[in-house]
Amino acid sequence: MTTPLDPSQAMRYSRHIMLAGFDLEKQERLLDSSILLVGLGGLGCAAAQYLVASGVGEITLVDDDVVDLSNIQRQILHGESDVGTSKCASAKQSLLQLNSQVSIHTIETRMDAEQLAEQLKKNDIVIDCTDNLASRNLLNQVCWQNQKPLVSGAAIRLEGQLFSVIPTKNTACYACLSHFFGEQNLSCSEAGVLSPLVGIVGSYQAIEAIKILTDFGEPLVNKLMLIDAMTTQSRVFELLKNPGCKVCG
Ligand SMILES: [Zn+2]
Repeated sequence: MTTPLDPSQAMRYSRHIMLAGFDLEKQERLLDSSILLVGLGGLGCAAAQYLVASGVGEITLVDDDVVDLSNIQRQILHGESDVGTSKCASAKQSLLQLNSQVSIHTIETRMDAEQLAEQLKKNDIVIDCTDNLASRNLLNQVCWQNQKPLVSGAAIRLEGQLFSVIPTKNTACYACLSHFFGEQNLSCSEAGVLSPLVGIVGSYQAIEAIKILTDFGEPLVNKLMLIDAMTTQSRVFELLKNPGCKVCG
């Protein structure tokens, strides 16, 4: 049973509700959903603002970092006056300006597998907005063990990547993909990243999350989307499960 919308919510979310196939029922499901969003960099800032404005019920923001002057070129929940403050506090303040009805929790530590598993019990989905392979692999593993969906995004230079995992549908997992990468693991601080590209990938992550949470449309599972901002093109590749995958095989 979902909680019915009150009249002001029905007005606020009317542009969702009028979408064919979305309707009141999907919006109510969204309002009852809880999201664990890990990483408040460029991807996390973009994904969080659309998820909060869209009317999710609860969101838990995870980041142990403070805002640096070099972040605000693309991490748009943080402004000039936030430099030196925690990303969690800065993001929460900005998000509450967008939608004060969403319950916003913050965790300012880097969680281990056990702490993540504890959080997954309270959340319906994980949005991976981290910036390194070790964190992505850990989130994937814990999501698979707890059978919770994962939306993974990445952006570096002018290249973006998007991928969703739904363990209950036995889709390919992030490890099926990441074993191709080997140890190569560049970060934006080493390679750079074009600001609006993180907005595109983060917005796609919000779209994926909304679709998976409400069972609307077709999520990007068993497929990998690569975005090339240099040529403004995207391509989607089939991604088969790796039968020898250490996580999902
Ligand atoms: Zn796998």
